Amino acid sequence: MTPEIYLDGNATSPVLPAAIAAAVRAMEDCYGNPSSSHTTGLQAKALLDGARQRAMRLLGVEQGRLMFNSGATEGIQTAVLSALCALRERRDAGQAIGSMLVYGATEHKAVPEALAHWNRLLGLNLTLSKLPVDGDGRHDLQALRARLPETAMLCTMAANNETGVLSDVAGIEGLLEETGCAAYWMVDCVQALGKFRLRLARSRIDYAPFSGHKLYAPKGIGMLYVRQGAPFTPLIVGGGQEAAQRSGTENMAGVAALDAVLAALEQGGVFRPHDVLCTFRERLAASLRRALPGVVFNAAFEHALPTTLNFSVPGLSSKELMDVFDAAGVRVSSGSACSAAKAAPSYVLQAMGVPDWRAASAIRLSFGPLADEASIARACERIERCGAALRASGLIAADGGLPAQDGVLQLGSGGACSWLVHDAASRSCVVIDPQPELSDRIAAHVRGLGYSVQAVLGTTPGADLTTLSRALGVAPGADAFGWPGAGQGGGELLALGAQALRRVLVGAHQALYLLGRADGRALPAAAVRHAFIGALAPQQLAGVVREDTLLCAASDAQQPFCSSLQAQAAAAGGTGEPESALHLDTAALQALLQRHPDAVLVDVRESHEHLVGLPAALGGKVVSVPLGQLAGQIPEWLGAPVQVPLVFFCRSGNRSARAAQCLRRLGYAQAYDLAGGMALAALPAAALPLAA
Ligand code: PLP
Repeated sequence: MTPEIYLDGNATSPVLPAAIAAAVRAMEDCYGNPSSSHTTGLQAKALLDGARQRAMRLLGVEQGRLMFNSGATEGIQTAVLSALCALRERRDAGQAIGSMLVYGATEHKAVPEALAHWNRLLGLNLTLSKLPVDGDGRHDLQALRARLPETAMLCTMAANNETGVLSDVAGIEGLLEETGCAAYWMVDCVQALGKFRLRLARSRIDYAPFSGHKLYAPKGIGMLYVRQGAPFTPLIVGGGQEAAQRSGTENMAGVAALDAVLAALEQGGVFRPHDVLCTFRERLAASLRRALPGVVFNAAFEHALPTTLNFSVPGLSSKELMDVFDAAGVRVSSGSACSAAKAAPSYVLQAMGVPDWRAASAIRLSFGPLADEASIARACERIERCGAALRASGLIAADGGLPAQDGVLQLGSGGACSWLVHDAASRSCVVIDPQPELSDRIAAHVRGLGYSVQAVLGTTPGADLTTLSRALGVAPGADAFGWPGAGQGGGELLALGAQALRRVLVGAHQALYLLGRADGRALPAAAVRHAFIGALAPQQLAGVVREDTLLCAASDAQQPFCSSLQAQAAAAGGTGEPESALHLDTAALQALLQRHPDAVLVDVRESHEHLVGLPAALGGKVVSVPLGQLAGQIPEWLGAPVQVPLVFFCRSGNRSARAAQCLRRLGYAQAYDLAGGMALAALPAAALPLAA
C-alpha cells in the first residue's frame, strides 16, 4: 500500500506516542478507580487531579469548573443545558430574559442541534437566530450588535473546522461589554486548542468545550471549562464523579492520554510554533497552485489557522479530488457532505457567500501542529503527483498527450450526463448532449486527446450546443440538433471510423442517435449497440430500438448508467436478486476466485487514480474499465459466449456497486462488487489494460 499522508487533522488526529504510552500505563499500572479510597484508587485520583490542574494552567484559569467528559459534543450539550436551565429559572421567577438563542452560521452542527433540542425539551420556546458571517467567514458584528438586546445565549466558535477561520473573539467580547449584554456565552474551542493561545481567565466566556481527538489524544475524551459563577446543570447524574458535575466512572486511559498531550503543550518543543506552521501552509499552497491550475482558497490565510487549507478547483468535483488524493495515499476530506448522486454544498462556505460551484466542490486539507519538514515535503510531492495524474488523464487541461481513446464515454455532473463517442483511428469524436456544467471538462478532454470533433449533437432542438462548439472551434451543425449538413456528414448517417451514428427524429422535438459498426455506408439495425436517447421515455422507443440495445440517457439521476428496454421491463416485473447476492467481502472474493479462476476483477477507478498509487497484490486477473467507459464495454461482456464472473472494485465500494448493479439489471447474472472497496481489501498489484 502507498504509505499514508494524513492531512485530515480537523476531523481527527493520530495519537501522540506519549499519549498512547500514558494510556497504556493508566491501564496497566494505574488502573484504579479514582473514587476508591485504597492506594490503587488514590493513585488514579492523583493522575486525574494532576491532569485537571495542568488543563487549568494551560487554559490560564485558576477558578471555575473543569470537568473531563467524552468530547466536545457532550461539552456543548452540558453548556447549552446549563444556560437554558438558568434562563428557564429566571423566567419562571419573573425576570426578563432575551428572546433569542444566537449562534454563528458556521458553527459545528452540534451547536444549533443542541440549542434546538434543549430549547424544545425545556419548553423555553426561544427563537433560534443564525448570526451571519462575512465573506471572510467572520461573524458579522453589526448583525450581532442588533441582536444583543434580545440575546439570551450566544454561541460562537474560536476557529472553524472546515475553513480554519479564526473568529474575532475579542471583538465579540468588546461588543458584549459595550452593550452590557448579560447573555450566557459559549465559545467552541475545539479547533483552537494547541494552535493558538487561549487566555480564558481574562475573558468573560462562560463555557468552553474541548475535544481530545482533534489534538493527538484518543477519541472519547474531552473537557469542558465553565467560568466561575456561570450557571451549571449536570448533563449526567449518578455516582457523583467529577465533583458531581459529570457522573460515571472516569475514562482514565483517555484522561492520561489527554494529560500527556497537554504536558507536551505545556513543556513546549513538541508542537511547531505558529510561524513554522505558516511556512508549512505556504509550501502546501504553492504545491496546490502548481498542481491544480485555477485553485481557489476559500478562506483568506490572514484570518485562519495555519493548519487548515480549504480550496476548490474549477472543473473538478470534490469527489474526483478525493478519489485521486486517496489513491495517492493523501487523506483529505471533502468540505461538503457528499451523497453518491450529488455533493451537497458546504453550509459553512455558503454562509460565507462563496459561489455555489466552490461550496459544492471544496476540499479541506488540515494538518496538525506535530507536522514536520519531512511530512510536509512528502505531502507537497504527492500533491504535485496528483496534479500530474489529473493532467495525464485529461481531467485538467493538458494540450495533447492523452493516450488514444476509442468508444463510448459518459461524463456526469449532478445527475446530468453528456456522452462522447471516440474513434482512435481517425482521431475524431462526437459529443452528444453537452451539459453546460461539463463544457470545460469536455473541452479539456478533447484538447488533451488532440481529436477533431465531428459534431456536437443535442437530443432536443433547444439545447445549447454553440458554447461548446465555439470553445472547440467546431462548425455549427446545419440544424437545431447540431446535425452536420449534407456536405459534412450526408443524410442521416455520420461515419466515425468503422462505426456510424444514425440520427432518428422522434416527432419534431426530439432526436435519438443509434451507434454501431457500419456496413459500408449503411448501419444495419442488427449492428446497433448503443442508442443515445436524451430524455425519451421507453414507450417512445418501442419499434425504434431493439430490446437489448443499450440506452444512454441524458440523465443519470437514478444512477442506471445505461439500460435497455428488456432490463426496464424486467425491473418493472420485479424480478431481481436480493442486493446481498451482489456484494462480496474479501473472504467471499477469495472463495469465488477459487471456484472460478477465470473470474475477472474490474477496476472501475479513473486512470488518474492508478497513476498515483497501486494497491497490494492479491491474485486474479484485473482489468481497468473506468466507470465512465462502462457503457462502451458492456456490449462485449453481454455478447461473450461464456459469462465469466466479473467482480467490480473501486476505492470505497460505491462506484463498483453501481457498476455491478447495472450489469445485473442488464442480465449479466455473474456480476459482483467488492464491498467496502480497496479501503477494506488488499488487491492485485497492477490493473492491466482491458486488452491484456
Ligand atoms: N466542534 C467543532 C468545531 C468540531 O470540529 C467538532 C468535531 O468535528 C465538534 C465540535 C465535536 O467534537 P467531538 O467529536 O469531540 O464530539
